[in-house]
Amino acid sequence: MQHIVIIGNGIYGVTLARHVRKRSDKKITVISSESDYFFSRTALMYVYMGHMKFEHTQPYENNFGKKIG
Ligand SMILES: Cc1cc2nc3c(=O)[nH]c(=O)nc-3n(C[C@H](O)[C@H](O)[C@H](O)COP(=O)(O)OP(=O)(O)OC[C@H]3O[C@@H](n4cnc5c(N)ncnc54)[C@H](O)[C@@H]3O)c2cc1C
Repeated sequence: MQHIVIIGNGIYGVTLARHVRKRSDKKITVISSESDYFFSRTALMYVYMGHMKFEHTQPYENNFGKKIG
C-alpha cells in the first residue's frame, strides 16, 4: 500500500490529507511539530482581541486525524 506523508498540519496539510482521503485509501501520516489537531494559528490574534472564540479557530473535530487516518 502506498503511504503519503504530509509535513505540517496547517490548513494546507490538512486540506491535502482530506483530498487524498476523498480520492483514495492510501495510508496518510501528517507530521506536526505542534498540536495533534488543526487550529488556525494565525487567527489566535483575533481570539486575543476578543473578536473570536478559540473554538472558532477549529474547523475540524480534534479527533479528525484519527478519523481520516
Ligand atoms: C499574522 C497573520 C495573519 C493572517 N491572517 C489571515 C486571515 O485573517 N485570513 C486568511 O485567510 N489568512 C491569514 N493569514 C495567512 C494564513 O495564515 C496562511 O495563508 C496559512 O496559514 C498558510 O497555511 P499553510 O498550511 O500553507 O502553512 P502554515 O499555516 O504555516 O502551516 C505549516 C505547518 O507546518 C509546520 N511545519 C513546517 N515545517 C515543519 C517540519 N519540518 N516538521 C514539522 N512541521 C513543520 C509548521 O509548524 C506549521 O504548523 C495570516 C497569516 C499571518 C502570518
